[in-house]
Amino acid sequence: MSTDTPVRARRCGRRSAAFADVTCQPVPTPLSVSPVVGRTLLSVRRLRVYLPANRLWRFGPRVRALDGLDLDLAAGEVVALIGEHGCGGSTLARVLAGELAPTAGSVRLAGDASPGSASPRHGLYRQVQRIAPPEWPRRQQRLSVARWLGGVVHGEPLAAALREVGLAPELAGQRLSAFDAGQALRLQLARALATRPAVLICDRIERGLGSEQRGELWRCLRRIGAGHRLAQLVITDDLDWVRYGCRRVVVLYLGRVMEQGPSAAVLDAPAHPYTQALLAAAAGEHGRILQGERPDPRRPPMGCVFHPRCPMAEAVCVRTAPHLQRSRVPGHYAACHFAPRDV
Ligand code: SF4
Repeated sequence: MSTDTPVRARRCGRRSAAFADVTCQPVPTPLSVSPVVGRTLLSVRRLRVYLPANRLWRFGPRVRALDGLDLDLAAGEVVALIGEHGCGGSTLARVLAGELAPTAGSVRLAGDASPGSASPRHGLYRQVQRIAPPEWPRRQQRLSVARWLGGVVHGEPLAAALREVGLAPELAGQRLSAFDAGQALRLQLARALATRPAVLICDRIERGLGSEQRGELWRCLRRIGAGHRLAQLVITDDLDWVRYGCRRVVVLYLGRVMEQGPSAAVLDAPAHPYTQALLAAAAGEHGRILQGERPDPRRPPMGCVFHPRCPMAEAVCVRTAPHLQRSRVPGHYAACHFAPRDV
């Protein structure tokens, strides 16, 4: 598939009965997108995902989970995505992994997306894999690892897959319920890698892990990512991993990008008040923790969506939505009328 071919979101069987099979139209590249180093592998443009607020009322109010998101990911690049719960990160992960259809916008994967596959869509989505803390149903927990992985890999490749994620091949006979949270994530990783993906999405995988387990998992991901030249999108609250493991970071609020840039630049000198508040909260600076409730995503505020909670808000913030503007550091952008910018 050429890089110019738009992706048609797949109909996801049982999981997506409520979602339409949307053809994502190509849109022009906006100026706000930060450049990536190397070949762009995954390109997301003006992605919108509006979900019914009430599953039983299909035509009722809609939650704007993502609202005009742009993102580029290069081969071998690790990009972090941070934000409060409900920022839209998991929705983005599910759209990219083909589990959820977008309302509008485009998602493109460079190169031949369907090697040897009868279905281009099937081939495309096999190249984007998402891992998240497993929630195996009780019935599935009784399965052995070999049986659970059997649909995608078996025999010697199964042993190799387990070794690659740091698990002994002898564990293939164990039940899933015998594994702790860190090992269960490694199993998910093994299953994801078995499809030879180009893009790996880690969806808040640090949840429920101790610091030692986190460290081991991040080291494992770093080694595997480098070995396979995987593009990785890491949705996380772990700022240490953002700083030391990710080249760029994107800050999301109410489904919109507030700030993005090189990890060190954003973490050391955040330009957007929302990022500043997030980092202050993580550092335990109580005086600067975000005030007020997150607005109702069915009715996002006019102008800057952050203005009801922003300590720096002025009249212009209520009237006019700011666009991402380049700051003084190359590749660093912030969507704030008063952020320091490159003039
Ligand atoms: S545009 Fe205004 S309300 Fe929005 S973050 Fe900047 S100062 Fe705050």
